[in-house]
Amino acid sequence: MEILDGKILSNQIKNKVKDDVIRLYSEEQKPLLACIIVEGNKASETYVASKQKACEFCGIESKVVRLPENISQIELENQIDFLNKDETVSAILLQLPLPKHLNSTSAINKIIPEKDVDCLTNLNLGCLFSGYSSFAPCTATGIIKLLENNNISIEGKNVVVIGRSLLVGKSVACLLEQKNATVTLCHRRTKNLKDYTLNADILIVAIGSPKFITKDFVKTGAVIVDVGINRIDGKICGDVDFDNVKEYCSYISPVPGGVGPLTVACLMENTLYLANKKEIKTNKNLIKTKERNYEFNCGSCKKLRNR
Ligand code: NAD
Repeated sequence: MEILDGKILSNQIKNKVKDDVIRLYSEEQKPLLACIIVEGNKASETYVASKQKACEFCGIESKVVRLPENISQIELENQIDFLNKDETVSAILLQLPLPKHLNSTSAINKIIPEKDVDCLTNLNLGCLFSGYSSFAPCTATGIIKLLENNNISIEGKNVVVIGRSLLVGKSVACLLEQKNATVTLCHRRTKNLKDYTLNADILIVAIGSPKFITKDFVKTGAVIVDVGINRIDGKICGDVDFDNVKEYCSYISPVPGGVGPLTVACLMENTLYLANKKEIKTNKNLIKTKERNYEFNCGSCKKLRNR
């Protein structure tokens, strides 16, 4: 069994972003990521702190907009609108989940697509699902990079994704299908889950249920990507029971240290991508325009041929 290490790859991605920021931007005019956090979720505080740290490393400016837990939908959306109009802001991230009284779909869709760094607005998702997007949600992009960086071929493979959120399950299923995998998307109402998972060459788990996947769900030699982040007695664990399945799979991503760091690294890439797009549009610096056309690896921008 080999470990799918997300830390080394995420450092490589962040170093590349850092180099590109130095090469393409002056000190006075750096890309800026605005993170909106609605208070009341401890885990979200940790995630936003790690995103700020990554921004600092990459030379990307960051700003955290902290809102009280009891904020109304209108007030939240007004704050988003304010950031939409702020010329200095390149990218906006609304940290999820939101408190139950808020409608996250409505709030996300208040972000203008040009600043929607996690590619979650209806317009950006529409482009992604039709195969004409140059970027994708950060976690889904990170999962693809983790597989490809370890030379795990996707084409023609039976891939089972458990969990159908737009943030993870649905978007990674879309990217995998565009890379010619045969994808089955399972969820809470799937009957006889094992019938699907036992046939999976690659199993991707994003359900938020600690150590749910045991060896009984795993085909011998399968590749397992564990997206889950759960806390038990202050310790972080994934949706896969690592010790129980490790002898039965060929590759497995650990939690922590697997998909998590890649989500943050891909957030840095997406921020730079949106900042570059804005620069090209506003034509501020024509000489650098070509250089700013940042390359992406998620593959969904390629014309879909031989289907
Ligand atoms: P979500 O709650 O929006 O969706 C969970 C999905 O899992 C749903 O589609 C549900 O139908 C399915 N599900 C739940 N229990 C199931 C079961 N027993 N059998 C089959 N399907 C089941 O969650 P999400 O935002 O997609 O996040 C999922 C997990 O991934 C969470 O632990 C979250 O913390 C983690 N996450 C990690 C990263 C990262 O960077 N590593 C990023 C985002 C989310």
